Amino acid sequence: MATTELLPLYDTIAQCNRCGFCQAGCPVYRVTGEEHSLARGRQAIARSLILGNLELTSEVFQALEDCLLCRGCTAHCFPGIKTDEIVTAMRHAYITRNGQPALQRILFRTVLADSKKLETAARMALWAKRHGLAAAAEKTGLLNLVDKRLQVANQVVPTASAKPFARGKKGKAPRPEKVKHRVGYFASCGFSFQFPEVAEATLRVLARNGCEITMLDNTCCGRPAHSYGDVDAARDIARKNVDRLAGAMGLDAIVSECGSCSTFLKEYGNLLKGDPLYADKAAALSGKVRSFSEFLVAAGANGSLGTLSGTVTYHDPCHLSNRFAKVTAQPRKLLKSIPGMTYKELPEADWCCGAAGSYTFLHHTEATGVLDRKMSNVEKTGADTLATECPACMMHLGYGARKKGLPVKVRHVSQILDEAYEAGKAT
Ligand code: SF4
Ligand code: SF4
Repeated sequence: MATTELLPLYDTIAQCNRCGFCQAGCPVYRVTGEEHSLARGRQAIARSLILGNLELTSEVFQALEDCLLCRGCTAHCFPGIKTDEIVTAMRHAYITRNGQPALQRILFRTVLADSKKLETAARMALWAKRHGLAAAAEKTGLLNLVDKRLQVANQVVPTASAKPFARGKKGKAPRPEKVKHRVGYFASCGFSFQFPEVAEATLRVLARNGCEITMLDNTCCGRPAHSYGDVDAARDIARKNVDRLAGAMGLDAIVSECGSCSTFLKEYGNLLKGDPLYADKAAALSGKVRSFSEFLVAAGANGSLGTLSGTVTYHDPCHLSNRFAKVTAQPRKLLKSIPGMTYKELPEADWCCGAAGSYTFLHHTEATGVLDRKMSNVEKTGADTLATECPACMMHLGYGARKKGLPVKVRHVSQILDEAYEAGKAT
């Protein structure tokens, strides 16, 4: 039976001339060498599904699951085919026809869409990790028994700070000396639950740059559901955020230091363009969103930075790279502005690190292969600080550094700036 849901993509897929140039840019293919991991192979699968030469079975779905959605292939593809969009459409078609695991459905449809449930679930998981329950469960083999992916997650995810970050209305942002900008802070799940120190540093840096900050009452941005192909759940979450952030539309900008959140929020207009009730509001919200470095550079970052030492390099999160939001010059500009710090460019800086949300838990062998390449490049720079702007990248790069025994601190750009501002105060 032909997968007719993919028919609207046929003209795009038909542009694939099978040249194979995508081999050069696909981190997964460089590890597996498998044709189905390659953009060309994925276009062939999509074409066969549309023509009815292939059924959308669980085996085909598994082959689609190993895509990072990183667009490394697109950068090398003459027609510029966005393979991530084609893979997402195939995943969507599969779960629409066959359903999805119950836990996944509850997570995307119930937990991520509700900020209170999301917070409760995240706090429970982090509490178990902090109190050694996850490690004990791993030792006894319980995690493996429940789900092998949980065992991998326990190894990759670091123990979060015990001090919780107060999201939304519970949060209190520092006040600027003089108000120059009025911004809304969109709290990402990754930073507020896993790396609360990054969220705190971001707020301090924004306040130092004259931002009067409104703590937004957002829930998850919806990207995780979208990446798994649950486009309907992602749209539902987007509508909820459009309603929740309606009061922020009079502000100068909505800022998030998570590259994945900010880029997905910028896509809300596109995601909800067919919804007569939400299309305009979603497009307006997308137009307000800025990623952290993007906002700070445009606002003219305040120059009272103190001196730091050492060498810093920068890893581009896929969603901020030139393949997505194109926020690449700004983080580098900020890092280079820090007195005393040497900036060293990272070879293949915009190659995916293999985190890709939860990809590393699902496809750990491939993800580790991709990460090893990244960490070898980091080692070549000799940097003692590795900066980035995405919580999944921070988690995975930190795991890579531990695994390789590299003495490199993985930090968000906002943390490094925060430290430089502190150093500036002391002089
Ligand atoms: S999106 Fe990334 S992982 Fe997927 S085929 Fe393209 S380069 Fe490979
Ligand atoms: S580079 Fe583009 S056109 Fe060439 S094989 Fe890959 S997907 Fe097809």
